[in-house]
Amino acid sequence: ATSFDVLIVGGGAAGCAAAASLRKRRPDLAIAIVEPSDKHYYQPAWTLVGAGAFDRARTERPMARVIPKGVRWIRAAAAAFEPERNLVVLEDGGRLAYRTLVVAPGLTLRWNAIEGLAETLGRNGVTSNYLFDLAPYTFQLVQGLRGGRAIFTQPPMPIKCAGAPQKALYLSCDYWRRQGVLSKIEVELDNAGAVLFGVGTFVPPLMKYVEAYGARLAFNSNLKAVDGAKREAHFDVKAADGTVSRVVKPFDMLHVVPPQSAPDFIQASPFADAAGWVDVDQETLRHKRYGNVFSLGDVASAPNAKTAAAVRKQAPVVAENIIAILDGKSPRAIYDGYGSCPLTVEKGKVVLAEFGYGGKLLPTFPLDPAVPRRLAWWLKADFMPTLYFDFMLKGREWLAAPKLLPHEPQARAEDPSLDD
Ligand code: FAD
Repeated sequence: ATSFDVLIVGGGAAGCAAAASLRKRRPDLAIAIVEPSDKHYYQPAWTLVGAGAFDRARTERPMARVIPKGVRWIRAAAAAFEPERNLVVLEDGGRLAYRTLVVAPGLTLRWNAIEGLAETLGRNGVTSNYLFDLAPYTFQLVQGLRGGRAIFTQPPMPIKCAGAPQKALYLSCDYWRRQGVLSKIEVELDNAGAVLFGVGTFVPPLMKYVEAYGARLAFNSNLKAVDGAKREAHFDVKAADGTVSRVVKPFDMLHVVPPQSAPDFIQASPFADAAGWVDVDQETLRHKRYGNVFSLGDVASAPNAKTAAAVRKQAPVVAENIIAILDGKSPRAIYDGYGSCPLTVEKGKVVLAEFGYGGKLLPTFPLDPAVPRRLAWWLKADFMPTLYFDFMLKGREWLAAPKLLPHEPQARAEDPSLDD
């Protein structure tokens, strides 16, 4: 089998960013990316596409253009792993060998986990910003609605961009408010979880918008089935005593975010943890059992917010640690769990939630992060696509230099900078 210094599975945000950070550090490494798709998607802007605030065409680029120069693109899908022999098995049966492996195929949207959904998606008022094809349909529905009931759903965690279900709600409500029809529309967020947002600091400013828009919050309400023709959504609603009952709600518009999990071939692999994600150390992003295997992005088990923002900080850590392994040293770069969720509370304003492990606030700017800002909308709509394509995917690690531990293990206790 052909062998590479670094073999990367997945050419999404994570795979391309890791390759770029590696090339930046060591241009002579033999790196390959296994990726079946000829298109690469900038998914964070789909929320804006669903609100008519971003051109969808700008979220799609040819894969050949985003794979970093000097990195070989193997246009195939990975199907299995043989880590004892350092091999990746492709769907066509081919095999590729590696010295180090990066597992980054993202996650799988489980549309079929909701009965009747796949048949009606894109019709009967049923949409989702989680698909390139459907984000424009969201805005079409929003524009067409003059009264009735709009339901937005949120599945059990973890999902990519946990704020996206409510972002769709806020931007839709803002449009209806501007059109003067909001009072004629019953708006509801059916959330399988029990909280509006996982980091408490951001709940009060979000609640202000929920109240201003007059939206109803239904917690512990999990979408299970959709009858498109009848325009009915079926929820499993969990009561305080744990009993679950089926509740049927009619809708005129339904924005669905499906349940999400690791891809099947990852869940079936020796790399999976009990929940199916790639079982990595949350600081070094190195696999807990296979020392020459790393993972980042949505598929990794690390308990950060699954976002492209997280990838921006993870990629330099993985690059640094892979080079250490190739040089026969220990990994020293540490990821703090940074992730970010720009909550688009209205058109023109964003609450820029940035936080790390344990919900620790990690704001990039010295401003109160709980305040909705125009600056943050500008960052989200104008700057972040540039940050993604021209910085992160090119190995330019702006404000993303990894924290390094000293080489000597005993020095760790003596270094006061590590005491926090
Ligand atoms: P992806 O970018 O999804 O890439 C995975 C790649 O792996 C794909 O190219 C796929 O073709 C490939 N692949 C799949 N299977 C295989 C296989 N068998 N073999 C080889 N390759 C394979 N993030 C933010 O930072 N801010 C936001 O505001 C934000 N909003 C979002 C809103 C929406 C609606 C969505 C959908 C996402 C949002 N995100 C946001 C999340 C962000 O897009 C993801 O976290 C990020 O793309 C993860 O990168 P990844 O490389 O792990 O996965």
